[in-house]
Amino acid sequence: NREIHLKNRPVGIPTKEDFSVVTVPVAVLKAGEVLVKNLWMSVDPYMRGRMLERESYIAPFVLNEVLSGGAIGEVVESNNPAFPVGSKVANMSGWREYFTTSGADLQPLPDTGMQDQAFLGVLGMPGMTAFTGLTKIAQLKEGDTVFVSAASGAVGAIVCQIAKLKGCYVAGSVGSDAKARYLREELGVDAVVNYKTTENLQQSIAQACPNGIDVYFESVGGAHLEAVLNLMNEHGRIAVCGMIDQYNATSASAGPSNLSQLIIKKLTMQGFIIFDHWDGYPAFVEQMTQWIQQGKISAKETVYNGIEQAPDAFIGLFTGQNTGKMLVKLD
Ligand code: NDP
Repeated sequence: NREIHLKNRPVGIPTKEDFSVVTVPVAVLKAGEVLVKNLWMSVDPYMRGRMLERESYIAPFVLNEVLSGGAIGEVVESNNPAFPVGSKVANMSGWREYFTTSGADLQPLPDTGMQDQAFLGVLGMPGMTAFTGLTKIAQLKEGDTVFVSAASGAVGAIVCQIAKLKGCYVAGSVGSDAKARYLREELGVDAVVNYKTTENLQQSIAQACPNGIDVYFESVGGAHLEAVLNLMNEHGRIAVCGMIDQYNATSASAGPSNLSQLIIKKLTMQGFIIFDHWDGYPAFVEQMTQWIQQGKISAKETVYNGIEQAPDAFIGLFTGQNTGKMLVKLD
């Protein structure tokens, strides 16, 4: 049973040396317990925040202990009739191959006929974040111009597609031309900016959104937020989902110097944490499953193989190695 421990609290972009692969015995099953073999695990940008020693909405990871995060596993031994052998379960005990539990922390996968790993992506936390952020936080309306940063990722690519489905004009920013092509050609996004090659981010976003921006789905922060604030339309809404540009910052990062745009344009800017909205999850799964089955939403995955690749997959989130959901498939 291999698991990944956090060896050091990373400074800047994490490196492989910040992690260790540790082999431990599989725990002996007690009465009422089940043994779960993880099949897939998720790496997510929020985990970077948990690698710091600081107060947040979720406790920091402990050094030299196994990391944790979303995973999909299969029950391989069972002393609990609620989870017979063969049950597929979503759990928060990723970054390890096997674990034992009473079952209290396991969610059976909904019976939708979808692939298991979809519940870490389009049908899981990232999909739910896209859906809730757009519909509930940003109050998306037909005809809105929507701008999406980190637009080809797990959350962003779903945001783009839902906004298109709802009759919006959609533009996004990404870090490569291949990702830009994917958004335009496969997802029908109206305009895409490559933020790494543009000489003037604000000008490029302005060209991509000739009628201004009504809804900004914010996942990056920094220069993106500053540029978009200048381009927002009156009464625009900004759903602040993430600020990945700051997660590896080693000094106080410069914030936008133009927050007065919030006043001038009477904007609403609201942060959110998806776990506070989880009561909507069953309705979301029903809607998203239907969209997938109707061919209205598609979801790409980038897959690394083997638990020893998990640190590389995680680090890759910050250098843009993924299109769609970044996943690790366990042996
Ligand atoms: P992604 O699949 O989007 O992966 C991260 C992507 O971000 C990379 O592929 C990369 O693409 C881009 N990126 C990395 N560094 C930078 C940078 N410095 N500037 C601009 N883009 C960068 O991850 P998720 O979809 O899982 O998460 C997206 C965002 O949503 C994150 O900010 C995350 O923290 C947030 N989030 C918030 C939740 C909430 O409850 N509020 C829940 C889930 C996610 P590229 O090649 O385009 O640079």
